[in-house]
Amino acid sequence: MNLARRVEKLPAYLFAEISRKIAEKRAQGVDVVSFGIGDPDLPTPDHIIAALNEASHNPANHRYPESEGLPELREAISRWYERRFGVRLDPQREVLPLIGSKEGIGHIALCFIDPGDTALVPDPGYPVYSVGTVLAGGEPYFLPLTEENDFLPDLDAVPQEVARRAKVLWLNYPNNPTGAVAGLDFFERAAAFARKHGLAVLHDGPYSEVAFDGYRPASFLQAEGARDAGIEFHSLSKSYNMTGWRIGMAVGNAQIIDALMRVKSNLDSGIPQAIQRMAIAALEGPQDCIEEHNRIYQRRRDRLTGALTGLGLRLRPPKASLYLWARVPEGMTSVQFATRLLDEAGIVVTPGPGYGPTGEGYVRLSLTVPDERLEEGVRRLEALAKSWRR
Ligand SMILES: *Cc1c(COP(=O)(O)O)cnc(C)c1O
Repeated sequence: MNLARRVEKLPAYLFAEISRKIAEKRAQGVDVVSFGIGDPDLPTPDHIIAALNEASHNPANHRYPESEGLPELREAISRWYERRFGVRLDPQREVLPLIGSKEGIGHIALCFIDPGDTALVPDPGYPVYSVGTVLAGGEPYFLPLTEENDFLPDLDAVPQEVARRAKVLWLNYPNNPTGAVAGLDFFERAAAFARKHGLAVLHDGPYSEVAFDGYRPASFLQAEGARDAGIEFHSLSKSYNMTGWRIGMAVGNAQIIDALMRVKSNLDSGIPQAIQRMAIAALEGPQDCIEEHNRIYQRRRDRLTGALTGLGLRLRPPKASLYLWARVPEGMTSVQFATRLLDEAGIVVTPGPGYGPTGEGYVRLSLTVPDERLEEGVRRLEALAKSWRR
């Protein structure tokens, strides 16, 4: 049997590695506290589950869904964008529900990337941008996100011939893994860059609702020229604790939405309709759960920031996202630091290079850890700080 080269080229999925390491330690009897994976620990709100319960009894929802999603869901997404961002979207042509945004992020490469084509991809970044590119036969060109540049890519530093050749520019704010945010001014520069070089902006924004200290992240589509330049991926996963239900959306430029719809309609048969009903309930129902969750995350952010600083890490407390991106103490690599934390304290953090080479020197911690486990982690970090100082 000979597998395709594209499969052999795939890196091991980062989180599969982490899960394996955790399982190994647990098998040795270690009580592991994991800050590894960004998956909300809080349950999906009850009113959203109630919509599932009701929809599950309707036989209309037992049959194949339409690939383009229920019209009611596309309308609900369009209304939510208008309420939240003041962005008006045509539910027929500018909105496409997805089986979780990761699905669309992977498949969109098939709309743009022919063998040998280039995608501009942030480094560090969510691995699917580059993996989707590689699966389509293309090559990622990495744009470093550095602290000096507030973890925004320096678009002026992209060589002319690379920019001319590139088909897409991937962006993600609020950012995973750095926790950085971008303002409309940056999105406008990105849209202008896309116009100048004839490429599409693909903005991934699943954390727009996970924000702290009163900060309200922007949508790429609020930027001048954005709708000509590209689309935005969004998701219900992080906003409403719905990672397990798999539902998200792509919105924006009608030509791109149509291309993605054509690819998808040939590969999948849509989103289970009962889950689309959950999404409608989430987007149209009471929104106070978002504030509630953010208060919890914000408290965790502050507890963990204190403990990490005490241990000699340097970090900017994020204004949004679920992540702390912390600079490891001088003289240690990310992996060395992560290994010491695991061996000396049973704490799992993700080494930065797992998100790209520019992640060297950093580790990522997720705030999706139940309060009592987070407090246990904080206690261990404080104890470790004492023993390291000795
Ligand atoms: C969590 C996450 C997603 C995927 O969300 P789903 O809608 O659950 O597939 C996409 N992009 C980034 C950057 C994420 O962190």
